[in-house]
Amino acid sequence: MMPKEYIAREEKFGAHNYHPLPVVLEKGEGVFVWDVEGKRYFDFLSGYSALSQGHCHPKIIEALHRQADQLTLVSRAFYSDALGEFMEFACRFFGYDKLLPMNTGAEAVETALKLARRWGYRRKNIPPEKAKIVVCSENFHGRTVTIISMSTDPSSYADFGPYTPGFIKIPYNNVEALEEALKDPEVVGFLLEPIQGEAGVVVPDEGYLRRCYDLCKQHQVLFMADEIQTGIGRTGRMFACDYEAVRPDLLILGKALSGGVLPVSAVLADDEVMLTIQPGEHGSTYGGNPLAAKVAIAALEVVKDEKLAENSYEMGVLFRDAMEKLHHPMIKQVRGKGLLNAVVTEPKGGKTAWDICLALKENGLLAKPTHDHIIRFTPPLVITREQMLEAIEIIRNTFES
Ligand code: PLP
Repeated sequence: MMPKEYIAREEKFGAHNYHPLPVVLEKGEGVFVWDVEGKRYFDFLSGYSALSQGHCHPKIIEALHRQADQLTLVSRAFYSDALGEFMEFACRFFGYDKLLPMNTGAEAVETALKLARRWGYRRKNIPPEKAKIVVCSENFHGRTVTIISMSTDPSSYADFGPYTPGFIKIPYNNVEALEEALKDPEVVGFLLEPIQGEAGVVVPDEGYLRRCYDLCKQHQVLFMADEIQTGIGRTGRMFACDYEAVRPDLLILGKALSGGVLPVSAVLADDEVMLTIQPGEHGSTYGGNPLAAKVAIAALEVVKDEKLAENSYEMGVLFRDAMEKLHHPMIKQVRGKGLLNAVVTEPKGGKTAWDICLALKENGLLAKPTHDHIIRFTPPLVITREQMLEAIEIIRNTFES
């Protein structure tokens, strides 16, 4: 089949809830993917930051194969030899008492919302049905009805109401707004992305996370960090919160937790919060299945053994420096941390960020615009210096032509 036939088939039989670049991929290895005609590309989207360990990392795939031959699913009606191993591994790795496994990022966020509410009722004596959670404008936490109820982006929430109540929306990167919101004694949690990914890699001011965390502590409110996109090395530290030595009360993970191999997500918390949920009160058929457990252990080992957070930091500096030196009239701003970066563009001569991404594709690099004018550059964290220099050359040539 020709690429356009693959595309036409998806268009005909699939819901139109995405607008992909016109490229049809069939193979991936490390930082590269290949299309159905054999052309190779740098993958600078990395499955929206899920593929931090690179495509088909041999160690993760080996763990997948080994476990797939053994046992794939038990449901949580029974114990498995793999789940406890993953829970212990992750709790020690990240420094929490307990882990609650789910599948997608949105489910992990939902889990955190439930935990915060439950904790509020059981530990903070909030009157029934009154618990509130403070969230930030321009957030992105997923696509469920409750999560879009927290959104300020009409493309996420419009005409999907009625919405879930119980959220207070404040501007991002505004400590005073949080201080004001926390005067409400019914607030149980503050949920935020330490860097807003989908909003276009919006990095808050230095000190913001720490000041918010301190305010939460003063008001007996849970600090809930959605590190689904920023976590596990993406921003040049294990977590974006590490930059300000903040340890969230609820840590929400997904994406790179499985290295792009399976949907694996989790919430980590200490006993005081986690044990407010009892048997039968929350769960998921596939959550914590043995395949996911073994894959996640392997994925985290790769991050540690290959020092991916450190590499992300160094390659990020190299990337942003090179982008700034382009001094191209279409480039308004370069921002990010580690390998979570964005180039904010300005249309010129009728050309937009989408046109640049199409041209990048022609030149062998895949990236995608977010919010029309922002191009996110988030390669796998395994990228070598040589590969980064080659990719930078492609981006430079594309802008210059
Ligand atoms: N939270 C953040 C910060 C995200 O970036 C995303 C996805 O992009 C999600 C939650 C939702 O994750 P999922 O698509 O796996 O449900």
